[in-house]
Amino acid sequence: MFPVNFEYRRAHSAQEALAVLQEHGGEARVLAGGQSLIPAMRYRLARPAVLVDINPVREFDFLREEGGQLRIGATLRDAALEFTPWVGERYSLLADVSRVVADPVVRHLGTVVGSVCHNDPAGDWTSAALAARATMLVHGADGEREVPIDEFLVDAYTTAVQDGELAVELRIPTPDARTQGSYQKIERKVGDYATAAAAVQLSLAEDGTVREAGVAITAAGSTALRVAQAEAMLRGQRPTLDLLQAAAAEAATLASPMADARGSVAYKKDMARVLVLRGLKQSLSRLGVSA
Ligand SMILES: Cc1cc2nc3c(=O)[nH]c(=O)nc-3n(C[C@H](O)[C@H](O)[C@H](O)COP(=O)(O)OP(=O)(O)OC[C@H]3O[C@@H](n4cnc5c(N)ncnc54)[C@H](O)[C@@H]3O)c2cc1C
Repeated sequence: MFPVNFEYRRAHSAQEALAVLQEHGGEARVLAGGQSLIPAMRYRLARPAVLVDINPVREFDFLREEGGQLRIGATLRDAALEFTPWVGERYSLLADVSRVVADPVVRHLGTVVGSVCHNDPAGDWTSAALAARATMLVHGADGEREVPIDEFLVDAYTTAVQDGELAVELRIPTPDARTQGSYQKIERKVGDYATAAAAVQLSLAEDGTVREAGVAITAAGSTALRVAQAEAMLRGQRPTLDLLQAAAAEAATLASPMADARGSVAYKKDMARVLVLRGLKQSLSRLGVSA
C-alpha cells in the first residue's frame, strides 16, 4: 500500500526542524531512520501530513563521551555503536544490543534515538536505556529539558515528546570499572523482534556487594519494564546464585506479555525469568565474579 499524501520537509539544523514541528503541531512527524515510521505510513497506521527529515542535520550525527556520559545524537545509526571498538570495551550492555536489533540492513538505517522515540513494546533499546538509567534531551519552544527514561517511556508508541518537540540526544551514564551489563534476547530467527529479552547492568562495591543494579525486560508489557523489585533485592547484597534466581523470578511475576505466534503467555513469562538470570550471570562473569 502507498502512504496517504504528505509534505516532505528536509531540515538542515535543529532550529529548522523545530520551526516546522511547531508550525504543524500534531500533524507533523520526525523522520529519522524511517525503519518504523515508513512501514507504519505504508500500512496507513500513521498518516502524518508533514514529515520533517532530520537526516541532513549534521549536528545530530555524533557519538561521544562527555561529562561522565555517553551522548548519542538523534541521527546516529545503531551500526555506529556496533562498530565503535571503545563502545564494545566500555558499554557491554549497549554493545550487546547493537548486535541483535533487527538485521544489519536495518541497523545501518535505524537510529538509537528514533527507536527509543518509537517506544515499541518489543524494542531492544528501550529496555537497555532503562537498565542503564539513560536520560533523553528534548528540545521545544520553551528550551530544552532532560527527561529520565522512566518518565520518557509513557505507553506503547507514546513518549514524553510533545507536539512541536524534538528528541535530540540520548545520554547514558558512563559505567565505572566495576560495572558491567548484558543483553539477552531470544528471537524466532535472526532479524526478528524479541520473543522475550532482558537488559541487565550491575555495579559492584569494593567489598563485592551489589552497589547498583539495573534490570529491565522487553516484549513483556505495553513498554519495556523496569523490574524494580529485582533491583531492590540485589542492591547491597552479595550476588549469590540463590539471590540471582530470586531476583530473576521477579521478572516473571512482573511480565505481562501477549500470547502470539512467538509463544504463550506462560512461556514468555518464564523466558523473562531465564533471560534476566542469564544477564545477571553474564554481567558478573564480565566482572570476573561467579555467582
Ligand atoms: C525488518 C525490521 C526488523 C526490526 N527488528 C527490530 C528488532 O528486532 N528490535 C528493535 O528494537 N527494533 C526493530 N526494528 C525497528 C528498527 O530498529 C527501527 O529502526 C527503530 O525502531 C526506529 O528507528 P528509526 O530511526 O528508523 O525511526 P523512524 O522510523 O524514523 O521513527 C520512528 C518514530 O520515532 C519518531 N522519532 C524518530 N526520531 C525522533 C526524534 N529525534 N524526536 C522525536 N521523534 C522521533 C518518529 O516520528 C516516528 O514516530 C525493526 C525494523 C524493521 C524494518
